[in-house]
Amino acid sequence: MRLSRFFLPILKETPKEAEIVSHRLMLRAGMIRQQSAGIYSWLPLGLRVLRKIERIVEEEQARAGAVQLLMPTIQSAELWRESGRYDAYGKEMLRITDRHDRDMLYGPTNEEMITDIFRSSVRSYKDLPLNLYHIQWKFRDEVRPRFGVMRGREFLMKDAYSFDLDQEKAVESYNRMFVAYLRTYRRMGLTAIPMRAETGPIGGDLSHEFIVLADTGESAVFCHSDFLAKEIPGEDVDFDSDLSPIVADWTSNYAATEDVVDMAEFEAAVPEEKRISARGIEVGQTFYFGTKYSEPMGAKVTGPDGKDVPVHMGSYGVGVSRLLGAIIEASHDDDGIIWPASVAPFHVGVVNLKPGDDLTDGACEDLYAKLEAAGIEVLYDDTDQRAGAKFASMDLIGLPFQVVGGPRGLKDGLFEVKDRRSGEKEMLSPEAAFNKLK
Ligand code: ATP
Ligand code: MG
Ligand code: MG
Ligand code: MG
Repeated sequence: MRLSRFFLPILKETPKEAEIVSHRLMLRAGMIRQQSAGIYSWLPLGLRVLRKIERIVEEEQARAGAVQLLMPTIQSAELWRESGRYDAYGKEMLRITDRHDRDMLYGPTNEEMITDIFRSSVRSYKDLPLNLYHIQWKFRDEVRPRFGVMRGREFLMKDAYSFDLDQEKAVESYNRMFVAYLRTYRRMGLTAIPMRAETGPIGGDLSHEFIVLADTGESAVFCHSDFLAKEIPGEDVDFDSDLSPIVADWTSNYAATEDVVDMAEFEAAVPEEKRISARGIEVGQTFYFGTKYSEPMGAKVTGPDGKDVPVHMGSYGVGVSRLLGAIIEASHDDDGIIWPASVAPFHVGVVNLKPGDDLTDGACEDLYAKLEAAGIEVLYDDTDQRAGAKFASMDLIGLPFQVVGGPRGLKDGLFEVKDRRSGEKEMLSPEAAFNKLK
């Protein structure tokens, strides 16, 4: 992608309304634009990162056996009356009336709708286990939308829903999502700690919030420091095997959010030097809630004994758009964002320091073409801005590598290659630069 043809509206000034660093950097780097309180347009750079995050979520959901579908954003109030949540949900639900005076709503979550889809077509325990998910925009009319995409009103969520014959099987489904979550967040460069949590309006008995520690997090959390060094299940983890030992291992140390923490228990369970009392960002939550929706909504299957029973369900959310904020909170410096390679909008930025100069143009165009041909995502700065502004923009948008081509280095046939995270720079020939980046 040529920067001259891209749309990257970088802000020079720090926007005053942004209270936390991720929000400031997302605005400055031209990733998002606020349209109303808590409602954003995703500009090209932001959208590229959002799609990368979605892709990782999709890969790990698939690995764990979840099947993707897509439900609408607008739902009928009827379904929510069946579960009893239409009145219970309160002001966070955006309620809409259509031209026929029918009560509709912009979905804050999809338990009712997925239960309706399930009951309309699944009849037998032989069709279980089943886990269906989608990645779709949600709307919650938050009292205080803030921190950019961290607490939006419209936000992108991955929500999965599992269906099983009984509690034992449902816990197996729960464990599959639990392990998938550990892998999902780590692939984005994050350590998300599963913490005991309250179930809130989703309801249920068993629940974990996945929390990334950050000073700007909205919840106070309490956990054992061993979580920070724990190994994540590898790519070869067998989702058909018994995953309970992994879940047991990841839940054996104390970790709880402020809503459920018992300080006496925390202090008894964790030696003083290992106690972390910090703030955290909720990047996902898993719930097992049994027959809370299947019972009132009549989602039943015929069991092996020929009797109809309501299915046992769980739901599993990932805050896809919130994750951009969480990743930036975890990975930035004074100059800007430092993207982990897995979610970076481009892998490398090629900076042409002197467009119009034959030698520089030739070498930069050539490297750009080679990288593109090799399938590497490149942002090629071919604009005629000042060098200082180019460097500042590259640091701000945080691509893993920068390759700078200018008349001085190229006279000796060399580019300067900079690793954004370490700041290390080396002078490399075009071939060596290409080999390092491919
Ligand atoms: P919070 O406690 O932050 O309000 P929640 O517990 O209400 O979140 P869930 O119903 O558990 O949210 O939804 C699943 C995930 O969706 C959350 O873990 C979070 O990552 C994300 N999420 C929830 N609300 C928002 C929001 N207003 N903006 C961005 N992401 C959100
Ligand atoms: Mg909430
Ligand atoms: Mg919460
Ligand atoms: Mg939650």
